[in-house]
Amino acid sequence: MRFVIKNERLIPEPFVPEENRQQLKSIARFDHLSTIPLKQFNYSPPLQELLIGKALLLDEIPFTLQTLYEHYLHGHLSFQKGIQEGSCMRCGNRDPHLFGDMSCSRCHEEKCRYCRCCIMMGRVSSCTPLITWTGPTRDNQIAPFLQWNGQLSEGQKEASKQVVTAIQNHQKLLVWAVCGAGKTEVLFAGIHEALQTGKRICIASPRTDVIHELTPRLQNAFPHIPVVSLFGGSEQKNEYSPLTLLTTHQLYRFQAAFDAVIVDEVDAFPYAYDKTLQFAVEKARKKQSSLILLTATPSSKLKKQSRKGTLPTVKIPVRYHGHPLPVPNIAWAGNWQKKISKGKLPHSIAVWSKERLQQQKQAFIFFPHIETMQMALPIFQQLHPDIQSVHAEDPERKVKVKSMRRGDIPILLTTTILERGVTVPGVDVAVVGADDLGFKEAALVQISGRVGRRSDLPQGNITFFHHGKTMTMVKAVGHIRQMNKEGAKRGWLIHE
Ligand SMILES: [Zn+2]
Ligand SMILES: [Zn+2]
Repeated sequence: MRFVIKNERLIPEPFVPEENRQQLKSIARFDHLSTIPLKQFNYSPPLQELLIGKALLLDEIPFTLQTLYEHYLHGHLSFQKGIQEGSCMRCGNRDPHLFGDMSCSRCHEEKCRYCRCCIMMGRVSSCTPLITWTGPTRDNQIAPFLQWNGQLSEGQKEASKQVVTAIQNHQKLLVWAVCGAGKTEVLFAGIHEALQTGKRICIASPRTDVIHELTPRLQNAFPHIPVVSLFGGSEQKNEYSPLTLLTTHQLYRFQAAFDAVIVDEVDAFPYAYDKTLQFAVEKARKKQSSLILLTATPSSKLKKQSRKGTLPTVKIPVRYHGHPLPVPNIAWAGNWQKKISKGKLPHSIAVWSKERLQQQKQAFIFFPHIETMQMALPIFQQLHPDIQSVHAEDPERKVKVKSMRRGDIPILLTTTILERGVTVPGVDVAVVGADDLGFKEAALVQISGRVGRRSDLPQGNITFFHHGKTMTMVKAVGHIRQMNKEGAKRGWLIHE
């Protein structure tokens, strides 16, 4: 779409009178876009609900251009440039390689620039206005009510208090909680506090699975609040809620929306690697707002900020059940890759697997690459025919995880796809090729975190098999020992 500016007002193409049509230009071509003062207006509440705290493309707004234009003329919404001074105003991309040029039917220009970085959310190009709400804000009309009678552990209690304080005072906080500490419950009091004081809050996670799992839990905890859940393919796109759960990419659509943003698994792909997603978090927050980062394995950058005191941090070094984290064993497996390619299992790995089968203990065995894992599968199946393997592109992935949970699979070979989130009570875990460069410290700690999750089965064996011990392996073990030490020091560990 193109515009004409007349009396400092944008006129969208369909409303431009005949005599001014030759002045039609792409929004990118105007130096200055003035804001229109707010005027008395009978605005549309559904449009307000959709647009408030967002920056959307025309295609994302199911209202007529006429309606939008009237709101604009009364100062209730604004048209902003989608791309400005080489930056995508939706995702923050500034890398010239991540823009393309196309011949554009909307602005009739030969080289209309568009952003390739956030194109999966619909194309932002030079001539695309981003539409934001500038009308009256919305009050949360519903009184929040926290329906949760669970008990917090000592570690959770302390973290919960700090989350409340951070939300009250618009601060940043890193919650560094070991796998199995119960970080969701730590948020309840803070969310309640935010809702009570009329704040709008969002929980973002890089993984859709997490959003699916958290939504019913939060909806149960806050039964009077319509919790909105946004992910690729979500049907709640247009609904407003004071409590929104979303995958990190969905943040691109928001602008100055939230009084508190909670980012879960802040270290997990792609957030940790993707600068534009960090931009999206900053863009989605209000100027005065809190940012709460949750992780079991902070990146070295976050750890540094935490050590220096620039990022206030609260640690939960102990699991909810109070038992110490199982410490990984390190075991030499020789040239395991060569052995497997010759159709044999390294002795130490075969012994470990047979022991699990004899004791009827289920196990996950992690591999650094799909190829080696697939090569190893038939060799493992000689030990037991029901042994299976799973990887990211496996169409049977969900079914296999389910059968593993039911106890139908004795040993499941897996790539790092199961490093997070999957909990099977009483499993033992092995990492084959823990020395592979693909396994970072965080991954090894997360994998170790699969063991001993349930209070009635708090122990378990975790073994790193290698062909040459690496610093990364040593660091992962050190990380886990350190957490146990801190837990003991606080007096939060159950002594066995
Ligand atoms: Zn973009
Ligand atoms: Zn264009």
